[in-house]
Amino acid sequence: MNADLVLHGVTIVDTRDGSLAPDMAIVIENGTIANIAAASSIGANGAAVIDARGTFAVPGYNDAHAHPLNEPDPQDGLTLMLANGITGFRQMSGTPALLEARREGRLMPAADAPELLEMCGEILTGANARSAEMAVAEVRAQHAQGVDFIKIIDATPEVFFAALEESTRLKLPYLGHLPPTVDVRKAAQAGLRSIEHLGPKDSVLLGCSTDETALRAEARKQPAPGPRISGPIPVNVIMRAIASPLLATDPTEFIRYARVLDTYSDERMRDLAAHFVAAGTWHCPTLTRVRTMALADDQGYRSDTNLRYVPLPLRQMWEDIAQQFSQRLPAAARETLARLFAALAKLVQPFKVSGVRMLAGSDSGGAAAWCIPGPGLHQEFDQLEAAGLSPLDVLQMTTSNVAAFLGRESTMGSVAPGKNANLVLLSANPMTSVQNLHKISAVVRAGKHYSAADLDALKSRTEHRVASALPSSTAVGPPCC
Ligand SMILES: [Zn+2]
Repeated sequence: MNADLVLHGVTIVDTRDGSLAPDMAIVIENGTIANIAAASSIGANGAAVIDARGTFAVPGYNDAHAHPLNEPDPQDGLTLMLANGITGFRQMSGTPALLEARREGRLMPAADAPELLEMCGEILTGANARSAEMAVAEVRAQHAQGVDFIKIIDATPEVFFAALEESTRLKLPYLGHLPPTVDVRKAAQAGLRSIEHLGPKDSVLLGCSTDETALRAEARKQPAPGPRISGPIPVNVIMRAIASPLLATDPTEFIRYARVLDTYSDERMRDLAAHFVAAGTWHCPTLTRVRTMALADDQGYRSDTNLRYVPLPLRQMWEDIAQQFSQRLPAAARETLARLFAALAKLVQPFKVSGVRMLAGSDSGGAAAWCIPGPGLHQEFDQLEAAGLSPLDVLQMTTSNVAAFLGRESTMGSVAPGKNANLVLLSANPMTSVQNLHKISAVVRAGKHYSAADLDALKSRTEHRVASALPSSTAVGPPCC
């Protein structure tokens, strides 16, 4: 059949090694890359031909940690993601209702949205997985609901491993936050698929401490992981805790963080990295999110021009969190948090060098303070660059690594025949600077071409919708992290 679209004269970036193939033509049919050949050998043959000379084609970006479907109206966040080159995302918090909507084919908007790559069910916490029996029952229930993976964020070691074992039995990837009471090497070896947010907090760094055994024992003496309220928890309580978990942290934890930082050892870190490589444990660092938790009142967040895409009630909540952060945290705690962020960011480059596989994620869309769908992933690219990764590393973390993580290398992760036609065209070479990953001149999503003007129109449309929305329509959605 005839092609639908030809991108003519483009330079293709190879996501395996960063090599460039100039002056090529990408032929797209039915949402798939049908052919790639020298531009001189490809004619229009009835297709729409885009003059793509001077641009660099990379696969569409994937946000490997996002929550857009938890918004009361997900369309705005999804549109903003697409307008920023994101053609796929992992939804990191599901609900029975979202899973039902997906089963019935009415979950995702028909147009102007990235692809939902994977979704979990309700996150396992002290509320739905208080005991090993409850956790196993919840994993089984979610399996029946059709989840793609199980996500846990806090639990005792007993519950954590019981849920892991049941997930493994049901062939469901098991991932999430590592509780500080859980031995990180043991979790990796038992099959924990990925660790989100490099912990968060100190749970991974504990594995780099020369005093790990004593510090973990201390963590186990602290109160059982929350939420400690039985029955329904008011949404505003959860949202505040989730939006800035550090404000909900037991003050004695800051003392432990400082001790973990003081006893950090490069040798232990390299040993831990080797464990991750051997066990195939992935990381989704979400440095941008880790930073917003540790430095929540940074003036830079308040002056971010992308806040124009954020509904006013949410912006107010974030400002409120920043003010509480300024007022309630003593100077010593703030200093410890700044050190904690620096130490976590410092893990990324040696992890990469050791061969730990990693994904780029923003944690946007779930009300997490200052994390904005779309721009948030670009901020993550900048954080990864600042952490010492190369442009190719960053590109891989949002393209080919995501394909490998999902086992979808036949349809994703590179610009090649047979792959889904999800592409970003850049106006500058992304292998010379991470900054060039921001210079989007066009996006192709499932074969549909969005010019720079189309992308600007999507952004303006979102800005206007957000500005004109009634407060009631932007009520904060369910919890996520
Ligand atoms: Zn999250």
